[in-house]
Amino acid sequence: MDYTSFDNYMKQRFGGKVYRLSLSTGCTCPNRDGRCGTGGCIFCSAGGSGEFAAKTDTGHSGSSDDIHADRNYLISHEQITDSVKRQIEIAKTKVASKLSRSFAGYLAYFQSFTNTYFRDDKEFAGVKARFFAAARHPEIVAIAIATRPDALPGYVLEMLASLNQIKPVIVELGLQTVHDDTSRLINRGYATKVYDKAVRDLHAIGIGVVTHMIIGLPGETEDMMADTIRHIVSTCGCAAPGHAGSVSDPVKHSYENLLNVGSGSGVSVISPVNSVGTSPCHSTSAGSGPAAVIDTDLKITSMPDGIKIQLLQVLKGTRLEEMVRNKDVTLHEYSPEEYAALLRRLLPLIPKKMVVHRLTGDPPKNLLISPLWTADKKRVLNYLHKALKD
Ligand code: SF4
Repeated sequence: MDYTSFDNYMKQRFGGKVYRLSLSTGCTCPNRDGRCGTGGCIFCSAGGSGEFAAKTDTGHSGSSDDIHADRNYLISHEQITDSVKRQIEIAKTKVASKLSRSFAGYLAYFQSFTNTYFRDDKEFAGVKARFFAAARHPEIVAIAIATRPDALPGYVLEMLASLNQIKPVIVELGLQTVHDDTSRLINRGYATKVYDKAVRDLHAIGIGVVTHMIIGLPGETEDMMADTIRHIVSTCGCAAPGHAGSVSDPVKHSYENLLNVGSGSGVSVISPVNSVGTSPCHSTSAGSGPAAVIDTDLKITSMPDGIKIQLLQVLKGTRLEEMVRNKDVTLHEYSPEEYAALLRRLLPLIPKKMVVHRLTGDPPKNLLISPLWTADKKRVLNYLHKALKD
């Protein structure tokens, strides 16, 4: 089956295998702390979908209010840089046994929670310093930042645009479904049009988007899942003029070209800029403050858009576990064969210039309730790759 895998794309782009290092910013999530919701998405575990992330120096990864300890602790850029270096070293030990001869570098992956949700200036400054410290690390070849589409106000876009001038940045957005009825059921906390706008905003500053979608959400048919993929493809870079690359020809864009898409000038004005503390939820980036002007002289190489596909997993301690137990929802439990057959139907909807970053999740085994066959990611991937061969 013909699709562009993350591994193949990174080999073409960086000349060898690139390994993800899961790092933590210590951010929490506005869909958990009450800013736009409580309880979080129904499938999300206490670790904020990032159980494997290296922890910050005070030992947490954003799951509770002890984040304040970190914000007070990290008082200088030197300390933050040291902290990031330590996180990178710890994360490297977790992939050390897997390194192949074709090793080309690491992707710094800020995975858990909402990594662009800042509750005050100090938190923003601290996390920004973390991102830049990671980008300046010699072994880091690219940065991936997982966040919510409603947590990307102007000042964050401005910061990401600057970061993208040091190392290529990908922003990962958890859309999961295009269907707003399902989105309400899973307590996603924002409307699909908020995602659409976030993608446009990120493209306007030359940043590629990786969209997460979940297969097997309650009440969704296979046609609905296909709708989600079609929406992602049409909203993302595949349809955006001048954006994205292909595996055979990673397109190098100048910053000017990317910013000139639709603007007609060499200077991009991100406007308006939300002040720190504006609610990120259901935001349409309306806010007050000075417009951010980005220097367009620097050349960058953008990352292409991508997609992460995951089968819904029921984890211990989640709202989904409770809903299944109480029979509030009924889930279809896909067998490996059914899942492979569904992927055979869905993958052809994804153009080759969009990178498929994931075909299965990597659940924390101690939390996984179902489907249990997804516990061993390596085995599942081997099976899927065989099953998807033409
Ligand atoms: S937005 Fe992300 S971190 Fe927040 S509850 Fe949903 S899945 Fe979890």
